[in-house]
Amino acid sequence: MDLRLRSNGIGRLSEMSGVQPHNAWIGLGSNIGDRLKSIEDALQALGDRADIDLCAVSSCWETSPVGPVDQDRYLNAVARLRTDLIPRQLLQCLLATEETLGRVRLQRWGPRVIDLDILLFGNQVIDEEGLTIPHPYLTRRRFVLTPLIELCPGLRNPLDGTRLIDNLRQLPAGEEQVRPTSPLRLPPGL
Ligand code: ATP
Ligand code: MG
Ligand code: MG
Repeated sequence: MDLRLRSNGIGRLSEMSGVQPHNAWIGLGSNIGDRLKSIEDALQALGDRADIDLCAVSSCWETSPVGPVDQDRYLNAVARLRTDLIPRQLLQCLLATEETLGRVRLQRWGPRVIDLDILLFGNQVIDEEGLTIPHPYLTRRRFVLTPLIELCPGLRNPLDGTRLIDNLRQLPAGEEQVRPTSPLRLPPGL
């Protein structure tokens, strides 16, 4: 398995701000246009920000779409960040990045150029209007759990302490396919 775990200057944030940065895990997905480029561009955009350190990125996985909408296959990946943004600010940053990369919301769970979701933010549990962490479907999605566990096998669900690897093992064998695909071109230093 193509694990890509390299450092991108961890420590830069706390040196700059004096605030202890948090680990956050971001899910990336695309099923329109040049899917690989959209994921790479999103990683580049996040890594370019002064308030985000991009620490590690999973392999890219090709996955069958889930849900009610008939659509093309996705590429999915997961990234671990360190940031001194608060969760709401990180969400705003992800939504702005989606928009910059051309995402248009026409249909719930419909095809998209890029989707950027906060999966986990440290051990925080948040359930507010427009922001739920852990991501509400985290434990039900093979296309999320597979790259997340590839990146960090020991992760636990802050809601109940269960190991996410156990969630993945317990998912019913269905039609959802998840297979590793082309390597990502990662931002310099990662
Ligand atoms: P899903 O939540 O099933 O993955 P989606 O990613 O397609 O669906 P979007 O259209 O990208 O949904 O986002 C809809 C809204 O979800 C966003 O405007 C945001 O306010 C909200 N949201 C709530 N929790 C999160 C989270 N953890 N990460 C990203 N968006 C979130
Ligand atoms: Mg999503
Ligand atoms: Mg989303």
